[in-house]
Amino acid sequence: MDIQTIGIVGAGQMGNGIAHVMSLAGYDVRLTDVSEDALAKAMEIMQGNMARQVGRGKISEADMQAALGRIVTTPTLTDLGQSDLIIEAATERETVKQAIFEDLIPYLKPETILTSNTSSISITRLASRTDRPERFMGFHFMNPVPVMQLVELIRGIATNQETFAACQAVVDKLGKTAASAEDFPGFIVNRILMPMINEAVYTLYEGVGNVNSIDSSMKLGANHPMGPLELADFIGLDTCLAIMNVLHDGLADTKYRPCPLLTKYVEAGWLGRKTERGFYDYRGETPVPTR
Ligand code: NAD
Repeated sequence: MDIQTIGIVGAGQMGNGIAHVMSLAGYDVRLTDVSEDALAKAMEIMQGNMARQVGRGKISEADMQAALGRIVTTPTLTDLGQSDLIIEAATERETVKQAIFEDLIPYLKPETILTSNTSSISITRLASRTDRPERFMGFHFMNPVPVMQLVELIRGIATNQETFAACQAVVDKLGKTAASAEDFPGFIVNRILMPMINEAVYTLYEGVGNVNSIDSSMKLGANHPMGPLELADFIGLDTCLAIMNVLHDGLADTKYRPCPLLTKYVEAGWLGRKTERGFYDYRGETPVPTR
């Protein structure tokens, strides 16, 4: 199936990144959000990010103008119905996502592929509530979308090969790399990454190391570009905790038990960079460890 028009639901952090890369790759993009503010802000952010790419010589001014011209924003969800592929990137709440698919269904073409960018909700369960579980799958981008090379493609139990191949072709056209994952909690990246971050927090909690020694150890001793606590602050400690809870609940194994210290930071509202405090305090010139 040839994909030309891509509908994106949700114009937040991920939605605007997805619209950015899709429009630069030549796809016609229809972007919607319940918040008109979010739509206006998304266009501004994309313009700023593309201008930076022009500045660095990565794309030309003409590429940028053409890409921005391929993006149409609309507050009306059903305007996306005639898209070849829909990527849902709205708030991470199952009832929100389910309602979006329900509202879209009467307006879809029979061949439209539905996908979700969810980090943690079961693709099979979302698919089962649509009229096309065989044309439904997970299309999981990493943040920030224009920078990160990987896309996880997740098959639900009913996803057919034609749907998978069509999504794989889109990832290829973006110049990104797809990893195929089965539909189990955390897929591949979060299944491996989050327990490592959680273990780093346990290491801190038990006093085996402090913030500096833990992050330096993993940077210099394991060649990680960022320490696990620094990375946790970047992702958001609330997001890390939510994903650990999904692994713990979904796999029912105590090895995924969220560290009580992680819970404590979230309770304090110390969520990392976005609140200027997490394992580091970002309010000054340079980040200062909080433990
Ligand atoms: P965000 O909060 O930045 O954006 C979500 C957007 O969805 C908001 O603009 C909100 O107004 C909009 N929205 C809410 N309900 C809607 C509805 N009914 N219809 C249309 N728009 C609606 O969140 P985000 O970080 O962009 O995450 C979006 C999705 O991507 C989530 O499923 C999340 O799990 C997933 N994801 C996030 C990351 C990450 O690092 N942030 C990485 C990979 C995947």
